[in-house]
Amino acid sequence: MAQEIALYIHIPFCRQKCGYCDFVSYAGREAEVPAYVSALKQEMGLRGKGQRVRTLYFGGGTPSLLCPPDVAEILSAARSHFDAPEDAETTLEANPGTIDGPYLASIRDAGINRLSLGVQRLNDGELRLLGRLHDEGEAREAVRLARQAGFTNLNLDLIYGIPGYGLPGAALESWQATLREAVALGPEHLSLYSLTLDEGTPLHDAVADGRLPAPDPDAAAQQYEFAEDFLDAGGYRHYEISNWSKEGFECRHNLVYWKNEPYLGIGVAAHSYVDGRRLANTSDIAEYITAMAQGRTAIVQDEEIGPDLDLSETVILGLRLVEGIKYTDLWRRFGIDSLRRYRRQVRELLQAGLLESDGTFLRLTRRGRLLGNEVFWRFLPGNQGEDQGEEDG
Ligand code: SF4
Repeated sequence: MAQEIALYIHIPFCRQKCGYCDFVSYAGREAEVPAYVSALKQEMGLRGKGQRVRTLYFGGGTPSLLCPPDVAEILSAARSHFDAPEDAETTLEANPGTIDGPYLASIRDAGINRLSLGVQRLNDGELRLLGRLHDEGEAREAVRLARQAGFTNLNLDLIYGIPGYGLPGAALESWQATLREAVALGPEHLSLYSLTLDEGTPLHDAVADGRLPAPDPDAAAQQYEFAEDFLDAGGYRHYEISNWSKEGFECRHNLVYWKNEPYLGIGVAAHSYVDGRRLANTSDIAEYITAMAQGRTAIVQDEEIGPDLDLSETVILGLRLVEGIKYTDLWRRFGIDSLRRYRRQVRELLQAGLLESDGTFLRLTRRGRLLGNEVFWRFLPGNQGEDQGEEDG
C-alpha cells in the first residue's frame, strides 16, 4: 500500500521582510512566481507516486501572494500525482492586507478549506515594531472577509513576548488586549508564538545596539500563562504547546509533524520525512527552479533516521502535545522496552515536576510546558546512551 503523507508546499515570496523573520522567504521577487509555480508542478511530478495525501498545506512566505489560478493549478497537480481526496484538510497561510473578498471566494472554490491568518497583534504600534505591512483594521477585516467567503476553519497566528516599551505592565496588558480581541473574532484555532530574535534580523540588531529593550523571558512566560487560563475559560482546548482549538478543529497537518509521521515538502527549502529518511531541498530559489527545469530533484540533504533518532524525535515531538505520549503507541512503534533507556531522565523529570504520568500518557506539566527545551534535550540520542548504560549495566 502506498505510504500516507502530509503534503507541504512552500511559497517563499513576501512583499517585505518582517523585522523578526528568519524564514526562507524573498521580498520583491514576485516576478519569479510563474517560474516557481511551474517548478512546484514539476517537483510534484518527480516525487508524486500516488501516495495517499492526508492533508495539504501552503506555507511561506506569503502563500496569499499566489493568484487563485496558481493555487488551483498547484492543487490540480497535487491531485494528479498524489492520491489527494478533495475533502482533505487544505490550509493556506494568508497575510491581512494581501486578500480581499473575491480572492478568498476563488481560493475556496479552488479547494482551500482552512485559512491561517498572520494577524500577530491587534495593535498598530506593535505591528509597526514587528515590521508587519498590515494594520489592526486590516487584520479584523481579513477575518470578516474570510467568514463572508465561507471559511469555517480559521486559524489566527499571534506573537507574544514583545518588549513593552519600558512601561511596567505594558507588555502584559497589551498582550491581554490582543488576545481578548482575537478571541472575540471567534477563530476555530489559535497559534501563539513567542517572539524570538534571530541573528541577522533587524529586530535583533535593534536590541543589540540598544535601540529596543530586549524581550524579557519572565514577561513572556507570564503572557503564556495568561493565555493558557484565558483560552481555557474561552472554550479553546490547549492541545499542543503553542496551539489551541475549538473541539474538532485541531490542525491535522501539524499533528502529523508532532506524531513524527511521514510528510513530503515541495518547494525551495522544504523538508521531508519519508521512508525513514529526512530530506531537505535547496534554499536557493534559482537553483531550485533550474533543477526542476532540468527534470531533477533539488534535494541537498538526505539523512537516514535510525531507530535511536526516530525514537528520540518521536518522544520529543510527542511531548509537545498537551495530552502527551501514549505509552501503548510508543510500544507499538518501537517495542515494549522503548522507554527503558529513558528511565533515569523520566524519573528525574517527574521528581522535578516537569513531567507527569497517569499510567496511560506521559506528558509535560504546566511548568514543563514553560520549560520545554529543558525537558527535550534530555531525550536527545547523545543523552540516552549514557543513561542506557546505567540502566542496562
Ligand atoms: S510574512 Fe512571514 S515569512 Fe514573510 S517576512 Fe513576514 S514573517 Fe517572514
